[in-house]
Amino acid sequence: MKWTVLGCHSPYPGPGGATPGYLLETKGKKLLMDCGSGVLSQLAKITELHTLDAVLLSHLHHDHIADFFVLQYAVQTAIKTGKRQGPLTVLAPQYPEKWGRLLAYHQAIDLHPIQEGDPLHLCGLAISFFQTDHKVPCFAMRFDNGAACILYGADAGPQTKWDKMGTNPELFICESTFLEKDMPLSPMGHLSARQAAIAGESMGAKRLLLTHLYPEYNPNHLYDEARPYFSGELTVARNGLVIDVGEA
Ligand SMILES: [Zn+2]
Repeated sequence: MKWTVLGCHSPYPGPGGATPGYLLETKGKKLLMDCGSGVLSQLAKITELHTLDAVLLSHLHHDHIADFFVLQYAVQTAIKTGKRQGPLTVLAPQYPEKWGRLLAYHQAIDLHPIQEGDPLHLCGLAISFFQTDHKVPCFAMRFDNGAACILYGADAGPQTKWDKMGTNPELFICESTFLEKDMPLSPMGHLSARQAAIAGESMGAKRLLLTHLYPEYNPNHLYDEARPYFSGELTVARNGLVIDVGEA
């Protein structure tokens, strides 16, 4: 499995940046996780937009779905011009309903609601969803190819129950929205770099990727805050970063 960062900023992109989006490639299949502002132009550097096999949206906040509505155009255009045969498989929460209603688009999108429960099998992966502590329904995702596992933590506050998501992922992608000094009094569904490191350590993650970064922070300050609390390999996300996990 190959994990590529297409966007790691929030709540808005810095210069040349993008809000959350990640490409997961496995056995010739391409899955896009979240589709924030600026993600499509990053993705287009790597692959043609209409060649995606599936899109998984963790939740329906704008920093995670802004470019999805433009991706609808790319897929519909590809179908009309014969470049693509069928609709794009999209898994997403249905709520807030105002946004859930807008995810389907003519014949371009094959929409499925995300629910916690038994893993589903897609693109040669077993994929499980786990609701996190966030203001709207939001789902962490565990990807298992039988040999290795990636956990994408989505947006998640301190009440998130990481222990229900299994242990020892090769790669844990965790939001790191705040430095501790900036933590709001009521946590509002997000973590600090220190809290992300503690979560990664508690589940025995081998590698931790800090993401969902305020574009005006110095990434070194986030790394320094997390470092004492996580014993594995620690990386702060940046656009274009590629992490290989297990066998391709
Ligand atoms: Zn977010």
